[in-house]
Amino acid sequence: MIKVMIDPGHAPGNVNKGPTGYYEYEGVWKISAYLKEILQGKGVQADFTRTWEQDPELYVRGQKAKGYDLFISEHTNANDGKTRGVEVFYDYSKPQDKIFAEKLAGDVAAVMVNPSRGAKTRVYTENGKIYNYYGVMRGAAATDCKHILLIESGFHDNAVDEAFLKLDENLKKIAQAQAEVILEMLGVNDMTVQEAEKIVQERAGLDDNTMQYLRFYRYGEALLLKLAEALKQ
Ligand SMILES: [Zn+2]
Repeated sequence: MIKVMIDPGHAPGNVNKGPTGYYEYEGVWKISAYLKEILQGKGVQADFTRTWEQDPELYVRGQKAKGYDLFISEHTNANDGKTRGVEVFYDYSKPQDKIFAEKLAGDVAAVMVNPSRGAKTRVYTENGKIYNYYGVMRGAAATDCKHILLIESGFHDNAVDEAFLKLDENLKKIAQAQAEVILEMLGVNDMTVQEAEKIVQERAGLDDNTMQYLRFYRYGEALLLKLAEALKQ
């Protein structure tokens, strides 16, 4: 079973907030909860690094990524009140994640109607070794977890982004956009075999006999799903 560990950034009492009443710990908790529900609906195991009251240290949160396919830390950003947009940090040692991090930033930015600030890495060097800058990512990178992300879904100190973040239905849209990229990243396929057959037959121009062979082949269903996914691109 595919497993995703979600880290709802911060905890009650944290002061990060917008100018008119949005609190980061509340907003990202809701995004995390929606994300968890959507992923579970797709047959993915999804868990949290903390309960509502708990506030584990950053490195400890990251360590909960052990045994998971993907770890994502949920945040909203703050800067000068004017900046807007979405950015996604990925583990510098996993450069293959850049494309998905870029897509994640872009798709969430599209939902928020703000600019995508793209995929980023942030590191520091100590005794000749490179480390991820964020403690939560450092903790996760010390485990066997395959994909490690930290997302900043908008700037809560910007009035326009904050207004968006204050509506639960918008937080749900953010979670939905995130879930779609995560599912794609993890290769979770919700295409049915019938849909796959249709795509394969149309795109590859196969006759009915060949389709029968494919169906009778022992691994035919898995093969059809894989072929359809590739042909769909
Ligand atoms: Zn944060």
